[in-house]
Amino acid sequence: MPELPEVEVTRRGVAPHLEGRTVTAVTLRHTGLRWPFPADLGTTLVGHTIRSTGRRGKYLLVHFDHGTLLIHLGMSGHLRVLPPDTLPKKHDHFDMQVGDQVLRMSDPRRFGAVLWHASNEGVIDNHLLLRTLGVEPLEAQFDGQWLYKHTRGRTASIKQVLLAGDIVVGVGNIYASESLFRARINPRIAAHRIGLERYVRLAQTIREVLAEAIEQGGSTLKDFLAVNGQSGYFQQSYFVYARTGEPCRICKTPIRQIVQGQRSTFYCPNCQK
Ligand SMILES: [Zn+2]
Repeated sequence: MPELPEVEVTRRGVAPHLEGRTVTAVTLRHTGLRWPFPADLGTTLVGHTIRSTGRRGKYLLVHFDHGTLLIHLGMSGHLRVLPPDTLPKKHDHFDMQVGDQVLRMSDPRRFGAVLWHASNEGVIDNHLLLRTLGVEPLEAQFDGQWLYKHTRGRTASIKQVLLAGDIVVGVGNIYASESLFRARINPRIAAHRIGLERYVRLAQTIREVLAEAIEQGGSTLKDFLAVNGQSGYFQQSYFVYARTGEPCRICKTPIRQIVQGQRSTFYCPNCQK
């Protein structure tokens, strides 16, 4: 599943091919993904120039003067920039032709989304899907103090509070496990029991794991744009994620796997207290 780093690397990959260019055609090969495609999307976009791109959580934002196109990659979505005469494959459901290239979205499981938010509906941050999102983990507002302040009264485990996305957005299952390991915090501890000092450490490790993943993804950027490119999801070497029973890279204790909120959590019972 694409996580925040994949979405950010995708944004950086497609941005130079979109920004400042005008949409010349839109092709839909399905009625929709998770939700139906917006009615008359072609009429809405053709002839309009893309001003900039952005990201909020795992939503890729394509800004025009008259509104914003929101793209979510869902479970299996993938964007590529291709020559416009490239034949579509089975799961290529959405094309936006921009100048002499086409932005093509493939999404085999169709849990992704392509939505339109017109400027006259208000600022994009107030969009129904965006307004409940927590702060961006790579922005200055996010720090240990922020985590500490917003977890007072939260009795759920720190792992589940991170995944909930209402305090900080985009820390998915992999990065929650990895950042908690690096901060030496046991994922089962109730969020309100963790003190400021440990939250300062956790905010730092969250930033680190995400920044490293984005950097690593940057080196595989061409895959996003290649005709036969791979999905582009990053294969990092993890400390704990998916390493059940394997020795901890620090202390050799076997990595433990538990289930929290129906998601697997991986941790070292010795290093993480
Ligand atoms: Zn360990």
